[in-house]
Amino acid sequence: MHIVVVGAGLSGLIAARELSAAGVDVTLVDKGRSVGGRLATRRIGDARLDHGAQFFTVRTPAFQRQVDEWVERGVVSVWNHGFGGPTPGGLGSAVTDAAQDSGDGFPRYVGTGGMNAIAKDLARGLTVETSTMAFAVRENRSDAPTRWHVAIDDGTQRDADAVIVTCPLPQAFALLVDSGVELDEALFRTEYDRTIGLLATLDAAPAIAPSGGVQNADAVFSFIADNASKGISATPSVTFHANPEWSEAHWDDDAALDALITAAQPWLGAASIVESQLKKWRFATPRTVWPDPCWVTCDDTIVLAGDAFAGPRVEGAHNSGLAAAHALLR
Ligand SMILES: Cc1cc2nc3c(=O)[nH]c(=O)nc-3n(C[C@H](O)[C@H](O)[C@H](O)COP(=O)(O)OP(=O)(O)OC[C@H]3O[C@@H](n4cnc5c(N)ncnc54)[C@H](O)[C@@H]3O)c2cc1C
Repeated sequence: MHIVVVGAGLSGLIAARELSAAGVDVTLVDKGRSVGGRLATRRIGDARLDHGAQFFTVRTPAFQRQVDEWVERGVVSVWNHGFGGPTPGGLGSAVTDAAQDSGDGFPRYVGTGGMNAIAKDLARGLTVETSTMAFAVRENRSDAPTRWHVAIDDGTQRDADAVIVTCPLPQAFALLVDSGVELDEALFRTEYDRTIGLLATLDAAPAIAPSGGVQNADAVFSFIADNASKGISATPSVTFHANPEWSEAHWDDDAALDALITAAQPWLGAASIVESQLKKWRFATPRTVWPDPCWVTCDDTIVLAGDAFAGPRVEGAHNSGLAAAHALLR
């Protein structure tokens, strides 16, 4: 049994690990230069910034087991127990966590070396081909015993008895259009919110309350994270995520970076931006979630997984990857 997993984001990595632990031969292919997908961390100078997922929560026993194991090995740690809303008038002053934090008490976890370090840890020991873009999954019509060809954009192919596709659904649809698999139309009408992010290194600490994050900050930003407070950057640096409406409206706007820098000023306090970069996520978060944790063809040889199935967050991607592996192992 040889399985190809398209996409080495969290769901693909979890699926591959589970299959590999069961003795299945698995190859992951990812178009990115590194594993992780939306678990992404970037260096700017000496600073380190998460620029995709910022943190995660745990609601299900399956994910709790994984997180406990990560905590034990130091792969993840608790960042805080909630952010509360924005604190008008509190900016730049000594706002305490108690004053700012609505404090639901649930831990918010982060990757100890950045969110991408979680993906790198999962990839250890797996066969992963990065910078490898799949462009079609086709049925094998030759005499070879394997059922599927995964065509790669360099003209090569990977043969597989079964394929797990974990990229965002519009990309999955493009891959499977020539596969002969009858796909549920509703799946591919799934729309995704976009996110434009501003990554900024600073010359001093920002004016963000000690919890280190601000949710639904203002009319522009849906989330602001102080990477120093997360423990991943000794150099002051902040990740600003514009909300879906702002991101959609400014997607092709050449002035988006300048507009975000202006919008960021109230959150900087006395600090100034040293260096800034823009990051665009076309498929940031699915707007709707499929009712099952993965989608499987009736012959159990093609599985679709990812955060559009078990929830638009880190935990959903994990649980969907697990479900995909179990669907093939059953
Ligand atoms: C800006 C932003 C902020 C977020 N914040 C949070 C948060 O704070 N908390 C939280 O829980 N969640 C958050 N999320 C959501 C979370 O990151 C995702 O739910 C999760 O990481 C999705 O994992 P995945 O494996 O389903 O998909 P992905 O991580 O997208 O993995 C899919 C992989 O497929 C690869 N791929 C795509 N097409 C091809 C192809 N043709 N060939 C080969 N490879 C291909 C991609 O390179 C990618 O690596 C955020 C997401 C974004 C974008």
